[in-house]
Amino acid sequence: MAFIEVEKINKKFQKGKNTTHVLKNVSFNVQKGEFWVVAGPSGSGKSTLLSILGSLNEPDEGKIMVDGLDLFSLSHDERALFRLNYLGFVFQNFHLLPYLTALENVLLPTLAYPKKLNKKDEALELLKILGLSGKENKYPRELSGGEQERVAIARALIMEPDILLADEPTGNLDSKTGEEVLNIFSELNRQGKTIVMVTHNLAHLQYATHALFLKDGEVLEIKTLKEVN
Ligand code: ADP
Ligand code: MG
Repeated sequence: MAFIEVEKINKKFQKGKNTTHVLKNVSFNVQKGEFWVVAGPSGSGKSTLLSILGSLNEPDEGKIMVDGLDLFSLSHDERALFRLNYLGFVFQNFHLLPYLTALENVLLPTLAYPKKLNKKDEALELLKILGLSGKENKYPRELSGGEQERVAIARALIMEPDILLADEPTGNLDSKTGEEVLNIFSELNRQGKTIVMVTHNLAHLQYATHALFLKDGEVLEIKTLKEVN
């Protein structure tokens, strides 16, 4: 059994009288430690696929198993716990809360945890590893785009997730800063993190072990690019 099994996912959206079939029988298997890039043109369904993979959205048909858990047979609360235990999310627009400092943003997921957690030391360490020492108490508006992205990465990592999901994490960054962020992902993958990253930048394939090409909601091709380290 693969770590992540995606089986014949179908998703339609209703817009007035029109129905768009956004994902069509999408299937793939991800093993632990792999780095998948989901590529495809704008509107091909990449973000929808990632949100379903992250159990933030439900498919109309199909099944996703993660570590033997059938995501869409879990209750609402179980699914929230699954996300906290297994997943870190990084979004294109960072999604930092503007009225919280960098450190407070990183600690945000720990507040959602049912048990009281003190992760302040870990959060400071993560900020340090990501090159943000001295910026802990800055607000997002006082940080550059690349720094905000790294805060978002630290926040995604604070619960030590097995899986990192990222939707165009470099979409709002200049190419040099984008490359720095990709190097962080690459290093995390080298340390064993399983990553699924959406991108429309084909240069990012060099970092991945696998690529899945989507077009109009269909899997065009799945490619193995290199072996897991
Ligand atoms: P991508 O990330 O590849 O650009 P998306 O997954 O965001 O593609 O969108 C795929 C298609 O689904 C688009 O046509 C988009 O308009 C449509 N879509 C996405 N989310 C919704 C929604 N919540 N309601 C209606 N249509 C949606
Ligand atoms: Mg998208």
